Amino acid sequence: MDKKNRYNREIESILNKDFVRKFVIKKIKLNLNWILVSGIICITIIFLIFIILPFIDRKENVETSFESPLEDDGLLEDLNYENIIQEYKEDIIVIEDTSSPENTIKTIKDLGIVDPTIPYNSKRLTDDVTALVNMYPEILTLNTIGKSALGKDIPLITLGFGERSILWVGAIHAREVLTSAYLLLVIEEYANAYSNEHAYDGISAERIKVLLNEFTVYFVPMANPDGVDIVTFNGNSNVNVDDIRTWRNNANGVDLNRNFPFDWERASSNSSSHNHFFFRGFTAGDEPEVKALIELCESKDFEHMVSYHTAGQVIFWRDEKNGVIPGDEFLASIIEETTEYKMQPPTKVALNGWAGCFENWFRYKYNKPGICLEFATFNTADKDLISTFYSADAVNWSKTRILLFAVLDNLSFVA
Ligand SMILES: [Zn+2]
Repeated sequence: MDKKNRYNREIESILNKDFVRKFVIKKIKLNLNWILVSGIICITIIFLIFIILPFIDRKENVETSFESPLEDDGLLEDLNYENIIQEYKEDIIVIEDTSSPENTIKTIKDLGIVDPTIPYNSKRLTDDVTALVNMYPEILTLNTIGKSALGKDIPLITLGFGERSILWVGAIHAREVLTSAYLLLVIEEYANAYSNEHAYDGISAERIKVLLNEFTVYFVPMANPDGVDIVTFNGNSNVNVDDIRTWRNNANGVDLNRNFPFDWERASSNSSSHNHFFFRGFTAGDEPEVKALIELCESKDFEHMVSYHTAGQVIFWRDEKNGVIPGDEFLASIIEETTEYKMQPPTKVALNGWAGCFENWFRYKYNKPGICLEFATFNTADKDLISTFYSADAVNWSKTRILLFAVLDNLSFVA
Protein backbone atom coordinates (compact mmCIF):
# COMPACT_ATOMS: atom_id res chain seq x y z
CA MET A 1 0.00 0.00 0.00
CA ASP A 2 2.70 2.37 1.02
CA LYS A 3 4.62 1.37 -2.02
CA LYS A 4 1.58 1.87 -4.18
CA ASN A 5 0.84 5.26 -2.67
CA ARG A 6 4.44 6.38 -3.07
CA TYR A 7 4.37 5.17 -6.66
CA ASN A 8 1.16 7.05 -7.34
CA ARG A 9 2.59 10.24 -5.77
CA GLU A 10 5.71 9.89 -7.84
CA ILE A 11 3.62 9.39 -10.98
CA GLU A 12 1.51 12.38 -10.01
CA SER A 13 4.61 14.37 -9.33
CA ILE A 14 6.10 13.46 -12.72
CA LEU A 15 2.81 14.20 -14.43
CA ASN A 16 2.59 17.55 -12.63
CA LYS A 17 6.18 18.39 -13.52
CA ASP A 18 5.54 17.45 -17.11
CA PHE A 19 2.38 19.45 -17.09
CA VAL A 20 4.22 22.45 -15.60
CA ARG A 21 7.04 22.01 -18.09
CA LYS A 22 4.64 21.86 -20.99
CA PHE A 23 2.74 24.80 -19.56
CA VAL A 24 5.93 26.81 -19.15
CA ILE A 25 7.15 25.91 -22.65
CA LYS A 26 3.77 26.83 -24.04
CA LYS A 27 3.87 30.17 -22.19
CA ILE A 28 7.43 30.83 -23.32
CA LYS A 29 6.45 30.02 -26.91
CA LEU A 30 3.49 32.37 -26.62
CA ASN A 31 5.68 35.10 -25.12
CA LEU A 32 8.33 34.54 -27.79
CA ASN A 33 5.66 35.00 -30.44
CA TRP A 34 4.57 38.23 -28.77
CA ILE A 35 8.19 39.39 -28.46
CA LEU A 36 8.71 38.54 -32.14
CA VAL A 37 5.55 40.37 -33.22
CA SER A 38 6.34 43.38 -30.98
CA GLY A 39 9.91 43.42 -32.31
CA ILE A 40 8.73 43.46 -35.92
CA ILE A 41 6.27 46.30 -35.15
CA CYS A 42 9.02 48.32 -33.38
CA ILE A 43 11.52 47.81 -36.21
CA THR A 44 8.86 48.86 -38.75
CA ILE A 45 8.10 52.05 -36.78
CA ILE A 46 11.81 52.85 -36.42
CA PHE A 47 12.30 52.19 -40.13
CA LEU A 48 9.45 54.57 -40.98
CA ILE A 49 10.68 57.31 -38.64
CA PHE A 50 14.40 57.20 -39.35
CA ILE A 51 14.66 56.00 -42.92
CA ILE A 52 11.57 56.72 -45.02
CA LEU A 53 10.35 60.04 -43.54
CA PRO A 54 13.67 61.89 -43.87
CA PHE A 55 13.95 60.55 -47.39
CA ILE A 56 10.51 61.98 -48.27
CA ASP A 57 11.52 65.31 -46.66
CA ARG A 58 14.84 65.44 -48.52
CA LYS A 59 13.15 64.63 -51.77
CA GLU A 60 10.75 67.55 -51.32
CA ASN A 61 13.62 69.93 -50.52
CA VAL A 62 15.59 68.86 -53.53
CA GLU A 63 12.59 69.32 -55.78
CA THR A 64 11.95 72.81 -54.35
CA SER A 65 15.58 73.88 -54.65
CA PHE A 66 15.95 72.71 -58.19
CA GLU A 67 12.51 73.66 -59.44
CA SER A 68 13.12 74.67 -62.99
CA PRO A 69 11.79 78.09 -63.93
CA LEU A 70 11.62 76.55 -67.42
CA GLU A 71 8.44 74.85 -66.27
CA ASP A 72 7.53 77.63 -63.88
CA ASP A 73 6.32 80.11 -66.42
CA GLY A 74 3.99 81.83 -63.97
CA LEU A 75 5.67 85.22 -63.75
CA LEU A 76 2.57 87.13 -64.76
CA GLU A 77 0.12 84.75 -63.13
CA ASP A 78 -2.45 86.40 -60.96
CA LEU A 79 -1.27 84.85 -57.69
CA ASN A 80 -3.33 85.30 -54.57
CA TYR A 81 -1.18 87.52 -52.42
CA GLU A 82 -4.14 89.27 -50.75
CA ASN A 83 -3.62 87.73 -47.32
CA ILE A 84 0.11 88.38 -47.34
CA ILE A 85 -0.45 91.94 -48.48
CA GLN A 86 -2.99 92.58 -45.74
CA GLU A 87 -0.51 91.31 -43.15
CA TYR A 88 2.21 93.61 -44.47
CA LYS A 89 -0.12 96.61 -44.47
CA GLU A 90 -0.93 95.94 -40.83
CA ASP A 91 2.80 95.86 -40.15
CA ILE A 92 3.54 99.40 -41.31
CA ILE A 93 5.23 101.26 -38.48
CA VAL A 94 4.85 105.01 -38.12
CA ILE A 95 7.52 106.90 -36.20
CA GLU A 96 5.90 110.28 -35.70
CA ASP A 97 7.85 113.51 -35.31
CA THR A 98 5.26 116.10 -34.17
CA SER A 99 7.69 119.02 -34.30
CA SER A 100 8.43 118.30 -37.95
CA PRO A 101 5.87 116.20 -39.86
CA GLU A 102 8.38 116.06 -42.72
CA ASN A 103 10.59 113.84 -40.59
CA THR A 104 7.82 111.38 -39.81
CA ILE A 105 9.04 107.96 -40.92
CA LYS A 106 6.84 105.09 -41.97
CA THR A 107 8.68 101.89 -42.62
CA ILE A 108 7.78 98.27 -43.15
CA LYS A 109 8.35 96.05 -40.14
CA ASP A 110 10.71 93.17 -40.78
CA LEU A 111 11.69 94.53 -44.18
CA GLY A 112 8.33 93.85 -45.85
CA ILE A 113 8.62 91.52 -48.83
CA VAL A 114 12.28 91.98 -49.76
CA ASP A 115 14.94 90.49 -47.51
CA PRO A 116 18.28 91.54 -49.03
CA THR A 117 20.33 89.56 -46.52
CA ILE A 118 19.53 86.21 -48.18
CA PRO A 119 21.08 85.61 -51.63
CA TYR A 120 18.50 85.87 -54.41
CA ASN A 121 18.08 83.17 -57.04
CA SER A 122 15.82 83.60 -60.07
CA LYS A 123 12.84 81.85 -58.47
CA ARG A 124 12.87 83.95 -55.32
CA LEU A 125 13.31 87.11 -57.36
CA THR A 126 10.31 86.22 -59.54
CA ASP A 127 8.21 85.51 -56.44
CA ASP A 128 9.19 88.79 -54.79
CA VAL A 129 8.66 91.05 -57.80
CA THR A 130 5.25 89.44 -58.35
CA ALA A 131 4.38 90.09 -54.69
CA LEU A 132 5.63 93.69 -54.91
CA VAL A 133 3.58 94.46 -58.01
CA ASN A 134 0.50 92.88 -56.42
CA MET A 135 1.06 94.98 -53.31
CA TYR A 136 1.67 98.30 -55.10
CA PRO A 137 -0.26 98.03 -58.40
CA GLU A 138 -0.88 101.79 -58.38
CA ILE A 139 2.82 102.56 -59.01
CA LEU A 140 4.56 99.34 -60.21
CA THR A 141 4.20 97.18 -63.33
CA LEU A 142 5.80 93.84 -64.14
CA ASN A 143 6.85 92.48 -67.50
CA THR A 144 9.77 90.60 -69.03
CA ILE A 145 12.42 91.71 -71.50
CA GLY A 146 12.89 88.18 -72.83
CA LYS A 147 14.34 84.86 -71.79
CA SER A 148 17.76 83.67 -70.70
CA ALA A 149 19.84 80.96 -72.41
CA LEU A 150 18.03 78.35 -70.30
CA GLY A 151 14.63 79.90 -70.99
CA LYS A 152 14.07 81.75 -67.72
CA ASP A 153 12.14 85.03 -67.75
CA ILE A 154 14.19 88.18 -67.26
CA PRO A 155 11.81 90.42 -65.25
CA LEU A 156 11.30 94.12 -65.97
CA ILE A 157 9.70 96.30 -63.29
CA THR A 158 8.63 99.90 -63.81
CA LEU A 159 8.22 102.49 -61.06
CA GLY A 160 6.33 105.70 -61.94
CA PHE A 161 4.28 107.00 -64.88
CA GLY A 162 6.47 109.73 -66.37
CA GLU A 163 7.32 110.31 -70.01
CA ARG A 164 11.00 110.59 -69.16
CA SER A 165 12.60 107.20 -68.58
CA ILE A 166 15.81 105.80 -67.13
CA LEU A 167 17.17 102.24 -66.93
CA TRP A 168 18.81 100.55 -63.94
CA VAL A 169 20.17 97.02 -64.35
CA GLY A 170 21.52 94.54 -61.76
CA ALA A 171 23.42 91.24 -61.74
CA ILE A 172 24.63 91.15 -65.34
CA HIS A 173 27.48 89.27 -63.65
CA ALA A 174 26.32 86.18 -61.78
CA ARG A 175 28.29 86.49 -58.56
CA GLU A 176 27.24 90.13 -58.17
CA VAL A 177 23.72 89.17 -57.09
CA LEU A 178 23.94 91.62 -54.19
CA THR A 179 22.91 94.26 -56.74
CA SER A 180 19.60 92.45 -57.38
CA ALA A 181 18.80 92.69 -53.68
CA TYR A 182 19.66 96.41 -53.70
CA LEU A 183 17.37 97.19 -56.65
CA LEU A 184 14.50 95.15 -55.18
CA LEU A 185 14.74 96.99 -51.86
CA VAL A 186 14.81 100.33 -53.72
CA ILE A 187 11.64 99.31 -55.59
CA GLU A 188 9.88 98.29 -52.38
CA GLU A 189 10.82 101.33 -50.30
CA TYR A 190 10.01 103.85 -53.03
CA ALA A 191 6.71 102.17 -53.96
CA ASN A 192 5.83 102.12 -50.26
CA ALA A 193 6.70 105.81 -49.83
CA TYR A 194 4.57 106.73 -52.85
CA SER A 195 1.58 104.56 -51.96
CA ASN A 196 1.46 105.53 -48.29
CA GLU A 197 2.23 109.20 -49.05
CA HIS A 198 5.11 109.58 -46.65
CA ALA A 199 8.40 111.44 -46.84
CA TYR A 200 11.54 109.43 -47.61
CA ASP A 201 14.91 110.51 -46.26
CA GLY A 202 13.95 114.19 -46.28
CA ILE A 203 12.18 114.16 -49.65
CA SER A 204 8.54 115.14 -49.10
CA ALA A 205 5.60 112.97 -50.12
CA GLU A 206 4.54 115.73 -52.56
CA ARG A 207 7.97 115.82 -54.21
CA ILE A 208 7.99 112.03 -54.53
CA LYS A 209 4.64 112.20 -56.31
CA VAL A 210 5.86 114.92 -58.69
CA LEU A 211 9.06 113.00 -59.56
CA LEU A 212 7.29 109.69 -60.20
CA ASN A 213 4.81 111.51 -62.44
CA GLU A 214 7.70 113.00 -64.41
CA PHE A 215 9.88 109.85 -64.66
CA THR A 216 9.43 106.13 -65.22
CA VAL A 217 12.26 104.06 -63.79
CA TYR A 218 12.84 100.76 -65.60
CA PHE A 219 14.48 98.09 -63.45
CA VAL A 220 16.01 94.87 -64.72
CA PRO A 221 17.13 93.61 -61.29
CA MET A 222 18.60 90.32 -62.54
CA ALA A 223 19.91 90.44 -66.11
CA ASN A 224 21.69 87.06 -65.80
CA PRO A 225 19.26 84.68 -64.01
CA ASP A 226 20.99 81.48 -65.22
CA GLY A 227 24.35 82.70 -63.93
CA VAL A 228 22.87 83.71 -60.58
CA ASP A 229 21.29 80.25 -60.23
CA ILE A 230 24.67 78.66 -60.96
CA VAL A 231 26.20 80.74 -58.18
CA THR A 232 23.41 80.31 -55.66
CA PHE A 233 22.62 76.63 -56.02
CA ASN A 234 24.64 75.24 -58.90
CA GLY A 235 21.50 74.95 -61.01
CA ASN A 236 20.96 73.70 -64.57
CA SER A 237 24.15 74.20 -66.47
CA ASN A 238 26.94 72.34 -68.13
CA VAL A 239 29.56 74.70 -66.78
CA ASN A 240 32.29 73.38 -64.55
CA VAL A 241 34.35 75.61 -62.30
CA ASP A 242 36.17 74.85 -59.09
CA ASP A 243 34.53 77.53 -57.04
CA ILE A 244 31.01 78.01 -58.29
CA ARG A 245 30.57 81.13 -56.17
CA THR A 246 33.01 83.08 -58.32
CA TRP A 247 31.06 82.44 -61.57
CA ARG A 248 30.46 85.66 -63.57
CA ASN A 249 29.07 84.46 -66.87
CA ASN A 250 25.80 83.14 -68.26
CA ALA A 251 24.92 79.46 -68.78
CA ASN A 252 26.78 79.43 -72.11
CA GLY A 253 29.97 80.50 -70.34
CA VAL A 254 29.89 83.98 -71.89
CA ASP A 255 30.66 87.17 -69.96
CA LEU A 256 27.55 89.19 -70.87
CA ASN A 257 29.40 92.42 -70.14
CA ARG A 258 31.91 91.57 -72.89
CA ASN A 259 29.31 90.46 -75.45
CA PHE A 260 27.81 93.85 -76.49
CA PRO A 261 28.55 95.02 -80.05
CA PHE A 262 31.00 97.76 -79.07
CA ASP A 263 34.65 97.13 -79.90
CA TRP A 264 33.74 93.49 -79.38
CA GLU A 265 36.63 92.27 -81.56
CA ARG A 266 39.06 93.56 -78.93
CA ALA A 267 37.44 91.65 -76.06
CA SER A 268 38.85 88.33 -74.87
CA SER A 269 38.19 85.36 -77.16
CA ASN A 270 39.71 82.94 -74.69
CA SER A 271 37.13 80.57 -73.27
CA SER A 272 39.45 77.87 -72.03
CA SER A 273 41.79 79.41 -69.45
CA HIS A 274 41.37 81.59 -66.38
CA ASN A 275 40.36 84.33 -68.80
CA HIS A 276 37.13 82.50 -69.55
CA PHE A 277 35.66 84.87 -66.97
CA PHE A 278 35.98 87.57 -69.65
CA PHE A 279 35.00 85.40 -72.62
CA ARG A 280 33.26 87.63 -75.19
CA GLY A 281 31.20 84.86 -76.79
CA PHE A 282 31.05 83.55 -80.37
CA THR A 283 29.67 86.59 -82.19
CA ALA A 284 28.91 90.13 -81.00
CA GLY A 285 25.59 90.37 -79.16
CA ASP A 286 24.73 86.70 -79.70
CA GLU A 287 23.66 85.92 -76.13
CA PRO A 288 19.89 85.97 -75.45
CA GLU A 289 20.29 88.14 -72.32
CA VAL A 290 22.30 90.73 -74.30
CA LYS A 291 19.79 90.64 -77.17
CA ALA A 292 16.96 91.25 -74.67
CA LEU A 293 18.75 94.25 -73.12
CA ILE A 294 19.53 95.71 -76.57
CA GLU A 295 15.89 95.29 -77.66
CA LEU A 296 14.72 97.00 -74.47
CA CYS A 297 17.05 99.96 -75.10
CA GLU A 298 15.90 100.13 -78.74
CA SER A 299 12.23 100.17 -77.75
CA LYS A 300 12.55 103.00 -75.17
CA ASP A 301 14.18 106.37 -75.08
CA PHE A 302 16.25 106.07 -71.90
CA GLU A 303 17.99 109.24 -70.74
CA HIS A 304 20.68 107.14 -69.12
CA MET A 305 21.45 103.65 -67.89
CA VAL A 306 23.18 102.48 -64.73
CA SER A 307 24.54 98.92 -64.60
CA TYR A 308 25.13 97.74 -61.02
CA HIS A 309 28.18 95.61 -60.28
CA THR A 310 30.45 94.58 -57.43
CA ALA A 311 33.06 95.28 -56.28
CA GLY A 312 35.27 98.27 -55.58
CA GLN A 313 32.92 101.11 -54.51
CA VAL A 314 33.82 103.14 -57.60
CA ILE A 315 32.07 104.74 -60.58
CA PHE A 316 33.05 104.12 -64.24
CA TRP A 317 31.32 106.85 -66.23
CA ARG A 318 33.44 107.72 -69.29
CA ASP A 319 35.76 105.90 -71.72
CA GLU A 320 38.48 107.25 -73.98
CA LYS A 321 36.93 105.99 -77.21
CA ASN A 322 33.47 107.58 -76.74
CA GLY A 323 34.91 110.66 -75.05
CA VAL A 324 32.58 113.25 -73.55
CA ILE A 325 28.91 112.29 -73.50
CA PRO A 326 26.37 115.05 -72.74
CA GLY A 327 25.35 114.86 -69.07
CA ASP A 328 27.80 112.08 -68.11
CA GLU A 329 29.79 114.11 -65.58
CA PHE A 330 26.60 115.62 -64.09
CA LEU A 331 25.09 112.16 -63.47
CA ALA A 332 28.35 110.65 -62.20
CA SER A 333 28.80 113.59 -59.80
CA ILE A 334 25.33 113.07 -58.30
CA ILE A 335 26.18 109.40 -57.74
CA GLU A 336 29.57 110.29 -56.25
CA GLU A 337 28.09 112.87 -53.86
CA THR A 338 25.38 110.50 -52.69
CA THR A 339 27.31 107.24 -52.37
CA GLU A 340 30.77 108.71 -51.66
CA TYR A 341 32.13 106.19 -54.19
CA LYS A 342 34.90 107.67 -56.34
CA MET A 343 34.56 108.61 -60.03
CA GLN A 344 37.33 106.83 -61.98
CA PRO A 345 39.45 108.23 -64.84
CA PRO A 346 38.12 107.47 -68.37
CA THR A 347 38.63 103.77 -69.17
CA LYS A 348 40.85 102.63 -72.05
CA VAL A 349 38.58 100.38 -74.08
CA ALA A 350 41.19 98.29 -75.82
CA LEU A 351 43.94 97.98 -73.26
CA ASN A 352 41.91 97.30 -70.13
CA GLY A 353 39.57 94.78 -71.67
CA TRP A 354 36.56 97.10 -71.46
CA ALA A 355 35.45 96.15 -74.95
CA GLY A 356 31.98 94.64 -75.28
CA CYS A 357 30.64 96.32 -72.13
CA PHE A 358 26.97 97.35 -71.78
CA GLU A 359 27.64 100.91 -70.57
CA ASN A 360 30.24 101.63 -73.28
CA TRP A 361 27.85 100.31 -75.96
CA PHE A 362 25.03 102.48 -74.54
CA ARG A 363 27.20 105.64 -74.73
CA TYR A 364 28.29 104.76 -78.26
CA LYS A 365 24.79 103.89 -79.53
CA TYR A 366 22.75 106.73 -77.97
CA ASN A 367 25.30 109.39 -77.00
CA LYS A 368 23.77 109.32 -73.51
CA PRO A 369 25.33 108.54 -70.12
CA GLY A 370 26.04 104.90 -69.36
CA ILE A 371 27.36 104.22 -65.87
CA CYS A 372 28.99 101.15 -64.36
CA LEU A 373 28.49 101.47 -60.61
CA GLU A 374 30.55 99.13 -58.45
CA PHE A 375 29.12 98.45 -54.99
CA ALA A 376 30.75 96.68 -52.06
CA THR A 377 34.28 95.62 -51.17
CA PHE A 378 33.63 91.99 -52.19
CA ASN A 379 32.08 90.29 -55.18
CA THR A 380 31.08 86.76 -54.39
CA ALA A 381 27.58 85.57 -53.53
CA ASP A 382 28.87 84.20 -50.25
CA LYS A 383 25.99 83.98 -47.79
CA ASP A 384 27.93 85.41 -44.87
CA LEU A 385 28.96 88.43 -46.88
CA ILE A 386 25.44 89.04 -48.21
CA SER A 387 24.12 88.93 -44.65
CA THR A 388 26.03 92.19 -44.15
CA PHE A 389 23.99 93.83 -46.96
CA TYR A 390 23.33 97.07 -45.03
CA SER A 391 26.92 97.63 -43.93
CA ALA A 392 29.38 100.11 -45.39
CA ASP A 393 31.35 97.19 -46.87
CA ALA A 394 28.34 96.01 -48.86
CA VAL A 395 25.85 98.51 -50.35
CA ASN A 396 26.12 101.10 -47.56
CA TRP A 397 22.32 101.30 -47.50
CA SER A 398 22.03 104.37 -45.25
CA LYS A 399 23.71 106.40 -48.02
CA THR A 400 22.73 104.56 -51.20
CA ARG A 401 19.00 104.22 -50.43
CA ILE A 402 18.43 107.83 -51.44
CA LEU A 403 20.34 107.55 -54.73
CA LEU A 404 17.26 107.16 -56.97
CA PHE A 405 15.55 110.29 -55.64
CA ALA A 406 18.83 112.20 -55.67
CA VAL A 407 19.20 111.33 -59.38
CA LEU A 408 15.55 112.09 -60.29
CA ASP A 409 15.48 115.27 -58.19
CA ASN A 410 18.58 116.64 -59.93
CA LEU A 411 17.51 115.49 -63.40
CA SER A 412 14.11 117.13 -63.01
CA PHE A 413 15.83 120.53 -63.11
CA VAL A 414 17.50 119.61 -66.41
CA ALA A 415 15.11 119.48 -69.36
ZN1 LIG B 1 30.55 92.99 -62.75
